[in-house]
Amino acid sequence: MRIHHLNCGTDCPLGGALFDGRSVAPLGRIVCHCLLIETDAHGLVLVDTGYGLHDVAQPHARPDPRITLPWRLMLNIRLRERETAIRQIEALGHRAADVRHIVVTHLDFDHAGGLDDFPNARVHVMRREYDDATGPHTGVVARNRWRRAQLDGVRHWQCYGAQGEGWFGFDAVRDLHGLPPEILMVPLPGHTWGHAGVAIRRDDGHWLLHAGDAYFYRGEMRRARRRCTPGLRAYQRLMEVDATARMTNQERLRALSIERAGELTVTCTHDPVEYERCRAGHPL
Ligand SMILES: [Zn+2]
Repeated sequence: MRIHHLNCGTDCPLGGALFDGRSVAPLGRIVCHCLLIETDAHGLVLVDTGYGLHDVAQPHARPDPRITLPWRLMLNIRLRERETAIRQIEALGHRAADVRHIVVTHLDFDHAGGLDDFPNARVHVMRREYDDATGPHTGVVARNRWRRAQLDGVRHWQCYGAQGEGWFGFDAVRDLHGLPPEILMVPLPGHTWGHAGVAIRRDDGHWLLHAGDAYFYRGEMRRARRRCTPGLRAYQRLMEVDATARMTNQERLRALSIERAGELTVTCTHDPVEYERCRAGHPL
């Protein structure tokens, strides 16, 4: 099993370091950290997809835009074809058809945009996330975050209910259809109700947990006292469906990242420093 770290989307919100904690320019830089896993017997597996080709070509097509203008402007989303998962996978010498599985942390527009670039893939998702994303939307955030135009082209959905099989004290969904037992989903509700992390056991036994949007900033893990920039604090609060669930799960993850530091690595979707360190093979 080989894991690649891909950035499949860049947002440059006005506010700079108030978002990413390091930019000196007025614009910050937020990434969409996805994983590409080369498995021995199960083909290529993607974890999240970031923005896709159709987002780049026609992000705001009416009447059903893939990305809505208010969110495009708020995050200052840069849409670049070369950053799409499909183009990066091709650059690694594979084809779209080689991607047999996509495991998604959730279906927000910045995670699901590339799904329809992989028509042969089975998309693994928590049932609650699927229902919330495709059902009728109430509220401004729900209407902007989940975009039917990105989801309608998916042919093979595989949905999972909550399961209680433990993973370091968390609930976990094992036995993902067609996937090896080294890849499992860890429900982490709060950002959305159906939000889940994806845990991968590397060949050396070390675990990598892609925590999706369970947290947004590197200072929220691996230290006893949470540190987060004001911009990302506000964005997390805007996007949460439940503050208590989100903060409780984040606290549990923080404890895990300290207590089990030798056994597992926790990374999130949007922190650029975590992404760069993962990509360089450095510990977080
Ligand atoms: Zn996100």
